[in-house]
Amino acid sequence: MSIDTTQITTPANFTELGLISPLLARLTELEYQQPTPIQAQAIPSVLAGRDLIAGANTGSGKTAAFALPLLQQLGQHLSTNKTLNSKSREGNYVAGLILVPTRELAKQVADSIKSYAAHFNGAIKTVAVFGGVSANTQMLALRGGTDILVATPGRLLDLISSNAIKLDKVKTLVLDEADRMLSLGFTEELSALLALLPKQKQILLFSATFPEQVQALTQELLNDPVEIQLQSSDASTLVQRVFTVNKGQKTALLAHLIKQHKWQQALIFVNAKNSCNHLAEKLSKRGITAEVFHGDKGQGARSRVLDAFKAGEIDVLIATDIAARGLDIEKLPVVINFDLPRSPSDYMHRIGRSGRAGEVGLALSLIDHEDFHHFKVIEKKNKLRLEHEQVAGFETVEVINDAFSDADKPMAKPEGSGKKKRKNKEQVNADIWLRND
Ligand code: AMP
Repeated sequence: MSIDTTQITTPANFTELGLISPLLARLTELEYQQPTPIQAQAIPSVLAGRDLIAGANTGSGKTAAFALPLLQQLGQHLSTNKTLNSKSREGNYVAGLILVPTRELAKQVADSIKSYAAHFNGAIKTVAVFGGVSANTQMLALRGGTDILVATPGRLLDLISSNAIKLDKVKTLVLDEADRMLSLGFTEELSALLALLPKQKQILLFSATFPEQVQALTQELLNDPVEIQLQSSDASTLVQRVFTVNKGQKTALLAHLIKQHKWQQALIFVNAKNSCNHLAEKLSKRGITAEVFHGDKGQGARSRVLDAFKAGEIDVLIATDIAARGLDIEKLPVVINFDLPRSPSDYMHRIGRSGRAGEVGLALSLIDHEDFHHFKVIEKKNKLRLEHEQVAGFETVEVINDAFSDADKPMAKPEGSGKKKRKNKEQVNADIWLRND
């Protein structure tokens, strides 16, 4: 594996990256002034046909990092061989396959690609397929094949078994949110899909996090990949805070924060579908209207809620982790972990919904004494160390202090001294902090 450790401090402009004019014209329209670091590093390697493992923060411009070179490769084929496009589509083939873990992400990525391809005047076809909606419409869309297909694995397998699409001529495979795609939940579906792909192909893996067990798998899949691991340049734009609270007061604290700060939009994560509804009911009793977003809702309702939230028509959205991955909600001011995520990498994905593309963002975690140990694990895995704060009127009782000491015990070498921990427990008036922020 060749490892590209170059940290590009001043990214080149898009012209220097060698992009062709239909893409440059579109980027100017979109007011993308310069490539983000992941784009500056990934685009030349993808254009050179290399396999790639790219670890970059969520919100760092990953979609364009693979979409632009993919469109360029297809666009250049078009201009050198005018018939290739229609030929490649004959027999329901696809050239560029992008696999994503959620329905919403499939739609979002396909929409971005269609937008970047605007100046190809319809010559490059992009289709999104995902579960929860009628397969017939998607079959119709796939008639005659497609240049780019963005898909969730389950629905794609269904469509393949109905002969709606064939993967034999895939030239580039992209795994977006690759750590999720390579995790246990998708193992069977992904192996079935990989078996249908041609041996010779370019593979691109993009993800904010690459847990160790996934790294081993990537070695098997990829051929001499270029590896890009960007330092988090956006870290300063996303502020992470942890508020300790007694278990029975969590909802009251949440309602207090929402009312106090009148956030335009707040995305609240819980761990179960029914917790979404319970929390919405409890907030409603406190005069706060919240919508819910989880896997038990029909796809139509899911899309409507998400679109309304993105459009700023819904102030408070309570969601499970189906909203944690890749969703681009412009200028989302705050993400709140009402329940902590089970996996440390999900913590990074959740908080990455705020503070995207260099915007200022805030990630709050509300933790009670039962969460202390788990939050330590999340911090350790993500190399974080956050001050524990308390909100005036919601101070924790002494049991938290005990639990805090207990939670420290399993840590081999906790950072900071006892003094530091005492400082962590100092009451901080979060209201002042939030106003200043
Ligand atoms: P992504 O990480 O792909 O979801 O992108 C996050 C957001 O950044 C999206 O709203 C993109 O439209 C935006 N974006 C991507 N690349 C650039 C760029 N070079 N300049 C400005 N905005 C960008």
